[in-house]
Amino acid sequence: MIKANQEIYKQLLSIGDFNASKCFSCGSCTALCPVGLDILPRTLFRYAILGAGDKIIEESDAIFSCLLCRLCEEMCPEGVNIAENIRMLRQYIAEREYNL
Ligand code: SF4
Ligand code: SF4
Repeated sequence: MIKANQEIYKQLLSIGDFNASKCFSCGSCTALCPVGLDILPRTLFRYAILGAGDKIIEESDAIFSCLLCRLCEEMCPEGVNIAENIRMLRQYIAEREYNL
């Protein structure tokens, strides 16, 4: 079961322009990804909005395998800053796991 935590979502919003809430899970962004992340960005964004910190940590390998190339953003009809949002998830992981 996912443990929701509003504080984590607020923390992500405080890191930068975290606009994952614009994602409506259309799936268009996955077609161009050269890496083929183990988890879809839209799923990561659901975890983030729910503040499911443990699930975000579980997906650390995928989050750090993103190239931040932004190819996916060309397909997004909502203008989600996918790469930047993923970068902020990295920062969240670094702060929580390594106190960086
Ligand atoms: S920014 Fe990340 S998720 Fe988007 S296409 Fe590049 S590698 Fe894939
Ligand atoms: S293309 Fe944009 S709106 Fe669609 S799933 Fe990807 S991030 Fe969400």
